[in-house]
Amino acid sequence: MAIQYLQIGLEEDARLGDVSPVNVRMEQLIPENHEFLMQFIDYDLSKAEQPLAEYLTCLDTGKDAKKQLLISAITELQQMHPYFHFCRENAAWLLNRIFAGYIKRKFGKLDDQEQKDLFLKVAVTDYSIYADPDSIFDYSLDAGEEHILDHLYNLQSDIAEWVFLTIDNTNPVLAGLSAKRRSMLYAHVACKGIYNPELSLTTDYATAPSPRMRKEIAQWEFSNLDGSEGDHFILLYRELDQLRKKPDGAIPASLQEVIDATSDASDDCNTITYTLSGFSNLLELEVFQMVHSDIRMKRCKNCGKYFIVDKSNQEYCSRLAPGSSKLCTEIGRIRVYGRKMTGDTSASGLYRKSYKTHYARVQRGQMSEDAFEIWKIQAQEKRDQAKAGELDMYDYEEWLKQ
Ligand SMILES: [Zn+2]
Repeated sequence: MAIQYLQIGLEEDARLGDVSPVNVRMEQLIPENHEFLMQFIDYDLSKAEQPLAEYLTCLDTGKDAKKQLLISAITELQQMHPYFHFCRENAAWLLNRIFAGYIKRKFGKLDDQEQKDLFLKVAVTDYSIYADPDSIFDYSLDAGEEHILDHLYNLQSDIAEWVFLTIDNTNPVLAGLSAKRRSMLYAHVACKGIYNPELSLTTDYATAPSPRMRKEIAQWEFSNLDGSEGDHFILLYRELDQLRKKPDGAIPASLQEVIDATSDASDDCNTITYTLSGFSNLLELEVFQMVHSDIRMKRCKNCGKYFIVDKSNQEYCSRLAPGSSKLCTEIGRIRVYGRKMTGDTSASGLYRKSYKTHYARVQRGQMSEDAFEIWKIQAQEKRDQAKAGELDMYDYEEWLKQ
């Protein structure tokens, strides 16, 4: 299996010149349990919005910006999704675009230079290229009336809608539909039948090796490299061409050297890299892959959080239940058991009823005392299993009826 990488650039990097993308191993941002996506969908964005709103009050009051508030907001975003930790420059770029949009909306009456001066007061300046007021206003994100982080609120609701319509199995009617039908459903709801680029992700397929592989190949040394590098490849191509014409011939020396060199190739070389731009693209890739693999999730009936469904009848997640030392699955088992523990349908009730029936048989001479003792031990064992949730109550009842 190839190691998968995400190469994350900026949404508008083409116009910003030389911005080097961030390379991250796929599982660091899209782990198999999809915890970060689930966390993002349910994240309370007001936790980042609140310090940010306070931070931006300096624009009105003329006081100095309290950088500590900005740091709190960024820390919150990093807790919401590790993207903001791995792609700090992108996070800074995103915030600066939001700030520029906010200034545009709120201080639109000021002239351009005054707006730019305000921006410089609050900009995240750790990465100077992303804090250039001459270009940032071209990319500013519309700041909404309600939220400074409107962009993230909208993204959260878009992704949640996509997840709900395609892979959330909490609703039994939706759960019963095939992956194809659910995608059609989403396409209809989200795009009113019009093509939506979010439904298809494109990757640039090229025969070029990954940067990692290229780096390793560059370190290879060959005996015929005394001449120019061009000579090496001319010889290689010529010998390879002859081999292709006569495939059962011996491997030529130049090719054998390359074959030998590959024996030390690190596993890291065999990679698939997804080229992405920005946070929304990352989330889109994840949901896209989940839909494609027909992964389903549900909301836990105890804590309400999303979890990946293994079995279709699973209702509880395996997290530690809030305010308890038990897992949600354990609480679920107790609840199901509790429902069955009332009246004569409880395991003990069933046992008592059956005990009387069997005892009556012994008294009538229809069952030996030995057979009764054996039955009793088995019935008690199974009763305890049923109580512990190890044996289905229905199966226990059936066994007693034999
Ligand atoms: Zn739970």
